Amino acid sequence: MGPRGLPAAAAIAHMGAMIDPISERGAGALVLFSGGQDSTVCLAWALERYARVETVGFDYGQRHSVELAARTAVRSRVAEQFPDWAPRLGEDHVLDMRGFGAVAASALTADRAIEMTAKGLPSTFVPGRNLVFFVYAAALADRRGLKSLVGGMCETDFSGYPDCRRDTLDAMQSALNLGMAQDFVIETPLMWITKAETWALAKGLGGEALVAVIVEDSHTCYLGDREDLHPWGYGCGTCPACELRARGWDGWVAQDRPALRPSFAEASEGKPAGPVLRSSGRSEEG
Ligand code: ZN
Repeated sequence: MGPRGLPAAAAIAHMGAMIDPISERGAGALVLFSGGQDSTVCLAWALERYARVETVGFDYGQRHSVELAARTAVRSRVAEQFPDWAPRLGEDHVLDMRGFGAVAASALTADRAIEMTAKGLPSTFVPGRNLVFFVYAAALADRRGLKSLVGGMCETDFSGYPDCRRDTLDAMQSALNLGMAQDFVIETPLMWITKAETWALAKGLGGEALVAVIVEDSHTCYLGDREDLHPWGYGCGTCPACELRARGWDGWVAQDRPALRPSFAEASEGKPAGPVLRSSGRSEEG
């Protein structure tokens, strides 16, 4: 089956193989995994921390199925190249959300130019997208006995997307736990770091091998360009996503490619992970 075309029924059938929800609770994480740079770093972060990690992707009618193809490529290469992580990497789930995509049509899902709207948001903003993702992810995590929901949202550097704010996700976490009688934790390891520090975190987690996976296999470009390979990865080089990725790369390289190791202590006991980084390179400033 194509990465884009997993039908909803197949995704639901996946959920049939339930893990015992009591004995396994708290042992695992579900990573919201788009195949981009940020969610690839989040996947590595979760694999370093949890004994069992599953991934979920959302097909909401993206312009470019390359985004979904990148998910498969990144997962396979991580399993191949990181023997410590491979046994922890569990199932992948792709949920069909094209109905939502149709409601929330924007530049990513329809052929509209990327521009700023009257509210000061880029037309790439899909209203409510992350909120919907977390509702679906939480329902899946409930069935799979996973307690941590890991997402690559970030307040630093970019976007001003209101559903990437930690305040929004704190409210979402409360709503999910109240509404599903659960004790999920939404973890956002990238929330307070810059794009240069995201590269440093990748190196801290998986060395230059993980940096290479991100450069060669992850995909971020809004235009779906897989022809032009830059030092920081494939992309058109000019869309907002490429500019951000390239700028972060330049900042990281200018600091001599430092590595950041995460500290997980602060994020235990069910508290959301805040600024969890500890520098093991020359600089922790981006
Ligand atoms: Zn681009």
